[in-house]
Amino acid sequence: MSVKVAVVTGSNKGIGLAIVRALCKQYQGDVYLTSRDVGRGEEAVKSLSSEGLNPKFHQLDINDVSSITAAAAFFKEKYGGVDVLINNAAILFKEGDTTPFAVQADVTLKTNFFATRDMLTHFLPLIKAGGRVVNVSSLGGSWALKDCSPALQQRFRSEDITEDELVGLMQRFVAESQKGKHKEDGWPETAYGVSKTGLTTLSMIHARRLSKERPNDGILVNACCPGWVRTDMTSEKAPKSPDEGAITPVYLALLPPGATEPHGKFVSDKEVQPW
Ligand code: NDP
Repeated sequence: MSVKVAVVTGSNKGIGLAIVRALCKQYQGDVYLTSRDVGRGEEAVKSLSSEGLNPKFHQLDINDVSSITAAAAFFKEKYGGVDVLINNAAILFKEGDTTPFAVQADVTLKTNFFATRDMLTHFLPLIKAGGRVVNVSSLGGSWALKDCSPALQQRFRSEDITEDELVGLMQRFVAESQKGKHKEDGWPETAYGVSKTGLTTLSMIHARRLSKERPNDGILVNACCPGWVRTDMTSEKAPKSPDEGAITPVYLALLPPGATEPHGKFVSDKEVQPW
């Protein structure tokens, strides 16, 4: 049997690094720590080596489509595809950051939604039968959804929203933010939240599509929240360690062979959450 492979984006630190650590202990296959910066990635591999773990490394900047396509070609050539993909990489402008909202909206959506979508565009076709795709989203996306206008909420929750429509909505949020009119247009005052509303919705769209187009392949796609975790993104006050934050993403990545659910859900603390 061919060697199985798991890939984790943005895993040189924080929750991504903890996901790689857990997969190295629990996954029967090769585990790839990826990082946009080779130096930071190799340091992270070294730190896990000192714990007796043996992740492999590949450079991967999700904001750079040529980096995504190079990585996709590598996994296709070496493994014939990918068994587990965890889209973990993301950014957050911290509270109190004085960067104008229009810029925050553009930059945040670029990485957290559009670049993660680019990853999925190039990697979903590579996901093997029985594969697992985990998009690390956030409860912040669920809260942002509740603060959207009823019309927007209806679209994000609808079963018939297409990927093109979703992309159009995310572009509209950025454009309206640039005009300073996002509130009038029904959007909440959180770029990070909207980016994660988009990512959770995208996960649901992809799950429905895979069920339709590859019904016999048993691939499960889910979004999740790791909880409030102490990382560079947050603060020391957060209750969970990175290893604790990794628990739900790793649970979804390791759903046993033959499992049929959760699929197309948003999961927190290993429980499916209302959307
Ligand atoms: P960190 O800021 O600690 O880590 C983010 C990781 O993403 C880093 O490795 C960073 O790389 C990487 N990254 C950012 N942009 C890119 C890119 N363009 N290409 C590749 N990698 C990139 O954050 P966390 O570990 O806290 O967050 C991990 C995930 O969990 C995120 O999706 C976040 O939104 C989500 N989350 C976190 C919560 C928390 O409480 N911490 C709560 C809810 C959700 P680099 O070091 O090069 O910057």
